[in-house]
Amino acid sequence: MDIKRLEKTLNEINGFGDEGVGINRLAYSEEERAVKEFFAELCRKEGLDVREDPAGNIIARRGGENPSLPAVAFGSHLDTVYEGGKYDGALGVVSALEVIRSLNDRGIKTEHPLEIISFAGEESARFGFSTIGSKAMSGTLGLEYEELKDRDGVFLSEELLKYSLNLEGAERSGDDFAVFFEIHIEQGPVLEKQGKQLGIVTGIAGATRFHLTVQGQASHSGTTPMGYRKDAFLGAAEISLALESAAVEEQHYGTVATVGVCEVKPGAMNIVPGLAELKVDIRGISKESKDRVIEKMTFAIAEAEKKRGLAVSVVKTADELPVTLSAEVITSLKDSADKLQYSYELLPSGAGHDAMNMARLCPTGMIFIPSKEGLSHNPEEYSALEDIGAGAQLLEEEIIKWAKVVHEAKR
Ligand SMILES: [Zn+2]
Repeated sequence: MDIKRLEKTLNEINGFGDEGVGINRLAYSEEERAVKEFFAELCRKEGLDVREDPAGNIIARRGGENPSLPAVAFGSHLDTVYEGGKYDGALGVVSALEVIRSLNDRGIKTEHPLEIISFAGEESARFGFSTIGSKAMSGTLGLEYEELKDRDGVFLSEELLKYSLNLEGAERSGDDFAVFFEIHIEQGPVLEKQGKQLGIVTGIAGATRFHLTVQGQASHSGTTPMGYRKDAFLGAAEISLALESAAVEEQHYGTVATVGVCEVKPGAMNIVPGLAELKVDIRGISKESKDRVIEKMTFAIAEAEKKRGLAVSVVKTADELPVTLSAEVITSLKDSADKLQYSYELLPSGAGHDAMNMARLCPTGMIFIPSKEGLSHNPEEYSALEDIGAGAQLLEEEIIKWAKVVHEAKR
């Protein structure tokens, strides 16, 4: 493991899409294409067999002594959000390459083949649809993606055509993989606050989302006495606060609830709000815990309707199942972290990752690196090189364990 070499490669990767503010390597853009080609070349220099699958994922393979065995795979993504940071995605891909370089340096050969996978189009920023490459690989696209377009009106299908890609052809079988690992920055504040070097991810939260329309009655703010109002905003506020306390009660399950949008209409200082539209996002790795929050929200809605004479319509706009990561892989990661004497925390991931799709194909594990101030999707995103080195070392340890060493040259 050569942490300086890892840092150098990370900087080279971040030379792509860096024009002004943050990093801009959007899903299926020219910049993503260019960085993938650069990365593929780095992999070839390490003796890996590199191909691009039909969905645009880069797969760099190192043969195993026993080619009939399933691959030990690891990676992340090279695309970013608009004005993104230097670590989200890129860190996992670069760490994967550093593991291969280190095995090459050490003359280590493995029984199982190894695969670095750099997934295409992980971020939803451009097309409003996330983890495209890993969904294509795991056969879980399940959406009419032909209709998706970016903010400039460019269709995803046009971009795919331009690069001769086709999401349908990338599907792989679980039999291809023994295990999959992803290193990723935490993108939240927990590890930094707890002073831990690493996170071992227990599960990946699924989001359940609602669009609530609270119907009251708009009226004159000067002439309508307090007792005669049907204030849609106040109903919305009560529902929001009830959601907060419901999620606080569930916080030991890692469940969170957010009202990220509240639009009040007609939206004038001298009118009692007649309508409020809320967008609610509830996430967690326990379906039962999420269900209890939803139940309390439903109760709060009924209360607000009764108390304030409101009518609330509820539309469920998303309902993802949480992904539980493999207990065997978690135990293995803990054992290796103990052996290497790294401090770590077990924690759920509130954000989605390619690993959640790979978990449908094979046992899957994730390593989190602390994020300074929890910042991500932001040019200020930062993780310390020491922590990155610990994560990459832990990954190397796991790859050696899962892929089984058959030969180690003298150093
Ligand atoms: Zn990411």
